[in-house]
Amino acid sequence: MTQPQPRDHLGTHIVENQPSPRRHVDLWAGDPVLQAVVTSAEGDTDVAARAGATLGSDELREAGREARRVKPELVAFDRAGRRLDEVRYHPAYHRLLSTAFELGYTALPWEGASGGSVTAGGHVTHAAILYCLTQTEPGVCCPLTMTYAGVPALSANADLEAIWRPRLTSRHYDPSAAPIADKESATLGMAMTEKQGGSDVRTNTTTAQRDGDVYRLNGHKWFCSAPMSDGFLTLAQTRGGLTCFLVPRWLDDERNGINVMRLKDKLGNQANASAEIEYVDALGWRLGDEGRGVATIIEMVHHTRLDCAVAPAALMRASIDEAFWWAQHRQAFKRLLVDQPLMQAVLADLVLDWEGAVGLAFRAAHACDQDGLEERALARLVVALAKFLNNKRCVRVTYEAMECLGGMGYVEDTPMPMLYREAPLNSIWEGSGNVICLDVLRTLVKEPLAGEMLGDELRSVAGVDRRYDEALAAHESRWPGLPTEQEARWFTESLANLLTASILLRFAPAPVADGYVATRLTGERGHVAGSVAGLDTSALLARING
Ligand SMILES: Cc1cc2nc3c(=O)[nH]c(=O)nc-3n(C[C@H](O)[C@H](O)[C@H](O)COP(=O)(O)OP(=O)(O)OC[C@H]3O[C@@H](n4cnc5c(N)ncnc54)[C@H](O)[C@@H]3O)c2cc1C
Repeated sequence: MTQPQPRDHLGTHIVENQPSPRRHVDLWAGDPVLQAVVTSAEGDTDVAARAGATLGSDELREAGREARRVKPELVAFDRAGRRLDEVRYHPAYHRLLSTAFELGYTALPWEGASGGSVTAGGHVTHAAILYCLTQTEPGVCCPLTMTYAGVPALSANADLEAIWRPRLTSRHYDPSAAPIADKESATLGMAMTEKQGGSDVRTNTTTAQRDGDVYRLNGHKWFCSAPMSDGFLTLAQTRGGLTCFLVPRWLDDERNGINVMRLKDKLGNQANASAEIEYVDALGWRLGDEGRGVATIIEMVHHTRLDCAVAPAALMRASIDEAFWWAQHRQAFKRLLVDQPLMQAVLADLVLDWEGAVGLAFRAAHACDQDGLEERALARLVVALAKFLNNKRCVRVTYEAMECLGGMGYVEDTPMPMLYREAPLNSIWEGSGNVICLDVLRTLVKEPLAGEMLGDELRSVAGVDRRYDEALAAHESRWPGLPTEQEARWFTESLANLLTASILLRFAPAPVADGYVATRLTGERGHVAGSVAGLDTSALLARING
């Protein structure tokens, strides 16, 4: 039965030239760039195709809107004043998490592998699911990402790993508030940041005192997202120094001493709850040796950083897709926007940022799929480069895409305000920009082989494009060794930009690689989006939907 349409012949005017909302977006079939990178990076194209078709459906897009509209609510006490410390979510939130668990978001990189090893193509396929889910509802990715990323850190304690790993990598999401032994699956959060220092976790004041085989934790955490997680990897001070603990939300027969003080009132990321918490004699199980807290939890942070590098590519994709749709259906001055040369230049320029970001993000995911110490050091470097550059570009791309919709881009009836609010977040958490750049320098000092491997990769495309060769030579002569701290951003941006260009030169169609090199490696352009010349705009716009 056909639905009755809204009336467009109104008393005062006829409603026209307003593009209709997107319907039934297949996030895989409609995205040739995603298909190309998942295929070349040896991901599972069947799973990625299923993720794209499922997560782009009208039903799940509507679930995303509901999960954001009805924000999570803290229920700190029951009516008698007893502590509950529960967070209530709209059912749509659970629906999205359940779908992601079934697709293998948390499980795929680790299924079939044991200890610290990885499943072939697992991170790439995981990244493809994240890329699709972020376009539908970015906030719900936070608890899923922490759950996925916590798995390798568990290898520091075989007993804990035996209990938690099968549940974190389950395909069935179980949101019940219950002890871990009673649950088929579990989610994991992380609690590092305190008021006096987030990046500098060594200033943490939360203490952990030995009590038999376990520890009692006391103190606060200033940011703790997904506070309804079943456990939290937590940093706390012991006699031996900063140490990592697994703090379960439930003990065998009672709630653990974790008080949820309040939820943060955030710019965006509305479906996800981010809390302030306090530990009051909370029981924690040690992961790794005393004093090795940072070394233990860095395994988790490394993988959350990968997701923070993929998510901005997805936010760029979602906003460009929306802008392109609008331009295809909106006329100005008697011509469709998409047929106007200056709009074509703007969109084509944004496509280059997006395609570069996808290439770099999935290169990082592919690096995480490799076993071996040297490959892991390289992965740490590439993930950091991708997290830095992709996020710095994301804010600009979402803003320019918003402007393509004119006034409606600023209105909540379209997804643009949500995408714009989300854009800065992945840069801030899990190591803000400066911290990431300093981490790049640290990795290059500690793991010189990673730097050499990256250098080999950059030089492997020498001779393909003279402008690229000149840019690489300029980088190497500007920084024959490591830069000063003051130049760490410039150095990191330059390295990430070169790596992106090298990836596009190897894998992307000629108009994309040529356009990127011409506008990102040479100075022949202005500073704002669309201030370019000579791009093959029709070839670049064809990249949006194939
Ligand atoms: C929505 C949201 C959810 C979050 N969820 C969690 C969570 O679940 N668990 C958790 O533990 N944390 C969480 N965080 C915290 C987040 O990871 C931190 O805010 C972030 O790491 C920065 O720490 P900070 O806020 O203390 O800032 P600071 O560490 O004070 O940094 C402030 C600025 O100084 C810069 N800076 C720091 N050191 C240097 C240096 N040596 N040289 C130059 N510049 C420097 C940083 O790049 C940054 O720009 C969340 C944050 C947000 C916004």
